[in-house]
Amino acid sequence: MNKIRGILIGRMQPIHNGHMQVIKKILEEVDEIIIGIGSAQLSHEAKDPFTAGERIVMISHALVEADIDPSKYYIIPMQDINYNAIWASHVKMVTPPFSIVYSGNSLVKQLFAEEGFEVRQPPLYDRLHLSGTEVRKRILEDGNWQELVPKATANVIKEINGVERIKNLSVKEISEI
Ligand code: NAD
Repeated sequence: MNKIRGILIGRMQPIHNGHMQVIKKILEEVDEIIIGIGSAQLSHEAKDPFTAGERIVMISHALVEADIDPSKYYIIPMQDINYNAIWASHVKMVTPPFSIVYSGNSLVKQLFAEEGFEVRQPPLYDRLHLSGTEVRKRILEDGNWQELVPKATANVIKEINGVERIKNLSVKEISEI
């Protein structure tokens, strides 16, 4: 029997507890999930501090910690391209075949719907606090960012000196104004 695969694409800067809940919800609906790491080419910027490789480690450790069966997911970095009109084809080229696209991002939904994919909007979990923006803001302000991300992800951020990196990036940007 053919596997039903769904895809979730996000910058995951960094992966947080909202992404984790969506991943678990999607796995109730499909056999396998493709987790696409969007904007893979970006790193060392205030909005995109972590490399694609670092994000792979953060995600894979979080999935192991959550006891999610590793045969059920693929983690695939994908670079942005200049042409929105062919982005869905570009994504198709670098991933296993999939039939359902999960996204809350209106451009992502539009581009895949135009290519004939079934698009589903996953529920938003505590969006006020569970967002990459909020995690990065709390890191900058020495707030409790750890409660927003899986423990394994927090450990990776500490291991790679992610807190210092985010603070340094913000200092540089202010001095360059
Ligand atoms: P994101 O990390 O903000 O979100 C990823 C997904 O997780 C979203 O669908 C969102 O609905 C979901 N999510 C986030 N917080 C949640 C919460 N609290 N509860 C439940 N769900 C939550 O990433 P994004 O901005 O949607 O990523 C899209 C990626 O696609 C970007 O990297 C973008 O550059 C890329 N893209 C590229 C092109 C191109 O190259 N031409 C075109 C379109 C999109």
